[in-house]
Formats: sequence, C-alpha cells, structure tokens
Amino acid sequence: PQPFGGTKEEWLEKDRKYVWHHISPHNDHPMIAVSGEGSWITDQDGTRYLDAMSGLWCVNVGHGREEIAQSAYEQMKALAYVPMTQSHEPAILLAEKLNDWLEGEYRIFFSNSGSDANEVAFKIARQFHHQNGEPTRHKFISRHRAYHGNSMGALGATGQAARKIKYEPLGVGFSHVPPPYCYRCPFGRNKDACGLECATIYEEVIRWEGPETVAAVIMEPVITGGGMIVPPPDYMRTVQEICQRYGVLLIVDEVICGFGRSGQKFGHQNYGVQPDIVTMAKGMTSAYAPLSATAVRADLYETFREPGTDSHFRHVNTFGGNPVSCRVALANLEILERENLVSRADELGYLLRDKLEPLLELSMVGDIRTFGFACGVELIEADGSPAHADKVMNVLASCKKDGILIGKNGDTVPGFANILTISPPFVTTEKELDLIAGSLLAALRSLDAG
Ligand code: PMP
Repeated sequence: PQPFGGTKEEWLEKDRKYVWHHISPHNDHPMIAVSGEGSWITDQDGTRYLDAMSGLWCVNVGHGREEIAQSAYEQMKALAYVPMTQSHEPAILLAEKLNDWLEGEYRIFFSNSGSDANEVAFKIARQFHHQNGEPTRHKFISRHRAYHGNSMGALGATGQAARKIKYEPLGVGFSHVPPPYCYRCPFGRNKDACGLECATIYEEVIRWEGPETVAAVIMEPVITGGGMIVPPPDYMRTVQEICQRYGVLLIVDEVICGFGRSGQKFGHQNYGVQPDIVTMAKGMTSAYAPLSATAVRADLYETFREPGTDSHFRHVNTFGGNPVSCRVALANLEILERENLVSRADELGYLLRDKLEPLLELSMVGDIRTFGFACGVELIEADGSPAHADKVMNVLASCKKDGILIGKNGDTVPGFANILTISPPFVTTEKELDLIAGSLLAALRSLDAG
C-alpha cells in the first residue's frame, strides 16, 4: 500500500537524504508506516505491527477512526482557523467538556504540545504570584527522572541529565527532589518501613529555597517516561498539603496520564487531589491532531481579570486551540465516553499485569510497575544493578521481529537504560495482550538462558 508510488528503496533513500529523525538522526532503516487500524500499523512492505506503545503513549482510541477523520474534514470545510484571541464553538465546547473531565472549575488555555502547555503553566504561575504581591516567587521544584518537555523551561523542569547536558543553560529557577522510586528507594527504605521522605522532602526544599521564592511544584501523577515510577498511595496528597501550607502552586502534568491512561479520567484522580494547574496533550486528541491545554483553577484565573491592573497574560500561540484540533478532540472524547474506554483501560491494565506476572520468575526481571494501562518492566543484572542498555535493545528487536512494538525508557538517566514499557491503545483485545506478553516472555527467556 503506497499511496504516493515509488519503491521502498527509493523512499528510504529520500528519507536518508531529507529527513531528520527525532532522537536518532542516523536511523537508516526506519519503519515507513502507511496505515493503521485499531492497535495495528502497516508499513510499506505490508508488514503489520502491533502498536503496543500507542505511538508515544498517545493513540489511545486506536488507529483508523473514520469518525475523527470526518470531524476534521467537516471543520476544515466550515472554518479551518481563527486565532484564540477570538473564540469559536469547538474551543468553547471542548473547554466545557474538559471541566467535566477534570471534575472542577478550570479555565482552559490552549496550545499545541505538551511542552507548550507546561511553559504556559510556568508563566501563569509566576504571573499569578507577581500580581498577588509576591513577585519573588519564581522557582519551580520537580523531580529527578521526570520529563516535562523539550523547550528550555520544560527541559529545566526535566530531571534527566542526558536530555539537558548539550543544551544548557536552560530555563533558570528549577530544582529537583529525588523521585518516589520504591524499588530503589533513594532514602534507603523498603515498602514495609516507608517514611514517605520522598514527599516530606518537599517541605525541607521549600524552606531551604525560601518559601517566598517558590512559585510551584510540577509533577506527573506517576513518572512515566523516566522509568514508570509509581509513588506510594499517600505521596501526591502529602505533597499537595505541603504546597498549600507554603502558598506554592501544584502543577500536575497529565500529558501522558490524562484521558484514561491511568484508569481514571485523569491520573491525579487516583490520588484524591485537586491540582491548581493541570497540563494535558497527547491523549486529548489521541494524536489525530496537535493540541494541548493548560487548565487553571477558576479562582486563580480571576486574579488575571483585575480591572485597572496590567493582568494581561502575554502569551499568544498561533495554532493553539485551532478549530480543527478542538473538533478532533471533541470527537475523540466522545468515543472515549461512548465506548467506556476509560474503564476499559482500567480493566486492561489489570489483565496486562496478570499476563506479565510470569516474567517475575526470570532472574533478569527485577520489578513490574503498572499505573492503569501503562506498564514498566525493570531489567536487572545478576547483582541487582540496572541491566545494561544492550539487554533492553535486544528485547525490543526480538519483539519487533514478532511484529510487536514495545518501548523503552530510562536511557536519558545515566545508568538506568533498563526499562521496557508497554502502553497499548484502549481498544486492544485480550488476544493481542497475549501476543505482547508471549513475545516479551520469549525474548526475556532467551536472554536469561544466554
Ligand atoms: N510532559 C510529559 C509527561 C511527556 O511525556 C511529554 C512528551 N513525551 C511532554 C510533557 C512533552 O510533550 P510534547 O512532546 O507534546 O511537547
């Protein structure tokens, strides 16, 4: 299936000549994908792959959804563009719908990407404090191992050395605390004797920094891209209480966890917290169109409307919240609701966990961590240290041979390129989960034997 004609070799040659791939510019044999349906992608040779990572944790409703394509087509015909200095019906309807999903009152600022949404959150947090008479509150606290995006501020918030080193200096004012990484607790605890120091340390750091200088804490509900690190159940609530005590805003990055991936509508709903600011992207459109949003608690937003003050939020984003992307998001959310895909993601998460349980019998599998329908498998060496990066690459290659695309992460955290990730579309069937688990088990068994 080659809609544009030409042989595969010709396409590869053009790709090598003209395209700069993300992360690995020297990928000389990329998959050239041409179509997708459900959890499957087909390449130029007609080979089908099970997309067990939903692309980059985003194609949650699956590939090939006619109804989303139709909604984009109709919106493009009616009105392709108007800037968000004005407004349009899809943006209004979507902002209303996001309030339902967030179970709170929020004002919605639209952008294009997760990085954009986090930059907006940082600027809003600083301006909020500024106009509240606390202009020295400019710092942000995030976690080591976290990823929050690729722009200078979002990279500043990111706690993964290898993503930052060549690009410094980044946005200033970011400091990091250790992650809630129970498998290798940074505070030397184990699960039976957890002192929740990973949460209470925020209080110490806020005091050391000077509370009058701290604008916000930013965190994902679980650290997804930096190792699938799932915190203890009381972690997020404890951090929020500390933030509230010191007038520090809590920004929750729901770029991956949002829109059902966690088994709830948003990841933070698993932990009973109501963030001040929520950022979201990927699953909002299931990647059918670029769109992101920064949701700000309505009462915070009110301070941006003080008459007679310069309370303009000086941030314009040309494509952010364009009618086509908003219409696509509405169609995507309608599918999630109509097909009960959020509760299905929750059920599939448990099912996947059960099917992966036998992996734990292998000596090179140290831990399996799940959050909703997202899963990380931590590989280890015989002495328990993080497995060498080659092992993860071997497993990925073996699964790809079986036609299964799983993911890896941790390689931007020096010494921790040892995490496999599985995060399939919410329409994945039990049979397809068996294919994923079977392929993983076979790959790991043969590595374990070797
Ligand atoms: N936050 C998180 C948690 C992410 O995983 C990502 C992307 N993987 C981003 C922000 C940045 O999103 P984008 O790539 O759309 O800029």
